[in-house]
Amino acid sequence: MKINVNLLLLVAMMGISSCKTNYYKHMIIAHRGAWKTAGLPENSIASLDKAMGQKLYGSEFDVHLTKDGILVVNHNNDFYGVDIATATYQGLLGKKHPNGERIPTLGAYLREGLKQKKTKLILEIKTSNLGEERTLESTRMIVDTVKSLNAQKLTEYICFDYEVGKLVHLLDTAASVAYLNGDKSPAELKEDGYKGIDYHISVYDKHPEWIPEAKKLGLSVNVWTVNSPDDMKRFIKQQVNYITTNEPELLFDLLRGKK
Ligand code: MG
Repeated sequence: MKINVNLLLLVAMMGISSCKTNYYKHMIIAHRGAWKTAGLPENSIASLDKAMGQKLYGSEFDVHLTKDGILVVNHNNDFYGVDIATATYQGLLGKKHPNGERIPTLGAYLREGLKQKKTKLILEIKTSNLGEERTLESTRMIVDTVKSLNAQKLTEYICFDYEVGKLVHLLDTAASVAYLNGDKSPAELKEDGYKGIDYHISVYDKHPEWIPEAKKLGLSVNVWTVNSPDDMKRFIKQQVNYITTNEPELLFDLLRGKK
């Protein structure tokens, strides 16, 4: 059989290029979904779809609890002026995102994410204004919802409240939980069951040693929110595992040398 060497070479090159593309995308987490370039609302189902379409490592989103015990996805404590913690879910349905979406429930968001297997759902458990007890109650409900939808493998948790992460670890020891607040060393996090550090740029500027320390302990290292090319380059150089950004397309271009 005559083998077309050029064709074989082309196929091999395509394979290498696809591996590289996957490698680059493997470090990108879209902050509140991939909303900016497409002009979509943050934390909308459409912004999650966009991030999944780009096959990024992860798409981050924020979860709150309403007064009547419904978990919803939104960044701010209010949804277009309606305070989530003291509103009923029905009360929130009076408002819409500019693209026509209503506030997504956690269940709807996870079900959308489960339509694929590639992009992780980076679930931030928000700290409640109503106090620690309400925050921990919301944590239990969130972990229950993730388990009931069989979304454990696709979901990774992040939180600012240290007790929240410890509770997630208790409820699901296999769960991946990373801490956002920047005031704990990698060794402390490891001790309490955390699987990663996920700190603001300024924290690593103050504690650059925490990056190698965390990696040595087997913790993942994520940095937020990195939007400028210079900062992106700095953290790629420091070999963080993940970069959370409002500019996933820019980061992708930069990683593959197009910027
Ligand atoms: Mg968040």
